[in-house]
Amino acid sequence: MKIDQNLVNTLEEIKDPGELMAELFRLFGNRAAIGTSGQWTGVALIDMVIRAGITKPNVFTVDTLRLFPETYDLMRELERKYNIKIKKVVPNFETVSKMVRDHGEMIFFNSKAKQEYCCKIRKVDPNNRILDNLDVWIAGLRADQSNSRSRKKRLDIIQHKQQDGIVRPLLKVTPLIKWTEEKVKDYTRTYHVPVHKLLEIERDGWHYASLGCIICTTPIGPQETRRAGRWRWFNYALNDDQKECGLHLERTDK
Ligand code: SF4
Repeated sequence: MKIDQNLVNTLEEIKDPGELMAELFRLFGNRAAIGTSGQWTGVALIDMVIRAGITKPNVFTVDTLRLFPETYDLMRELERKYNIKIKKVVPNFETVSKMVRDHGEMIFFNSKAKQEYCCKIRKVDPNNRILDNLDVWIAGLRADQSNSRSRKKRLDIIQHKQQDGIVRPLLKVTPLIKWTEEKVKDYTRTYHVPVHKLLEIERDGWHYASLGCIICTTPIGPQETRRAGRWRWFNYALNDDQKECGLHLERTDK
């Protein structure tokens, strides 16, 4: 199946997110996959596609080896409830060892560049390895997460650079891009979808709005922006748009 604008135009006609994903899995089989870090939208996507008739959707998560215990618990719970296997993609051990040898365990405190380097080694590179075997990457982004995410399309042809250097089109799909967080939460409650335990905690207005690795993720206070809890030590200098791990940045290798 060719990844081109004709395909996008056809898929644009399918408004229901579950039906859209089901059609993608029917068309592409295991060349399509849902990538999730276990936040509200990702778990809702898994439930939706299974309800739409795809009993064994291809699902993966990037395990940076620094995730919260609650994240691992959630993945196990999702696997049990839906009788699926979630592929865990880990970073290359030698590359991580070299990074730690060269810069220490807590490299991300030093500078934005080093945080991005750590995210590249632990998240972006493993994610790219998975994309090498995919034509369709389904992600749980929402427009209300940040300004940069508000500009994302529901169906977007991106250029993926494989490890062998070949650049080819890949369809990135964000079925719930227009959904608000409240709407996604309502969905998970209605359909009893397992959710990340940390996302359910709220104390005096403090709560987790976005989850990543331990240490790099903290709860946000009532007056703080959504991504203020990510790499909090950069808040004096960076806004939410500047605080990305690199997974969903515009690709420049076009
Ligand atoms: S979130 Fe922190 S620990 Fe995780 S990959 Fe990025 S910089 Fe490294």
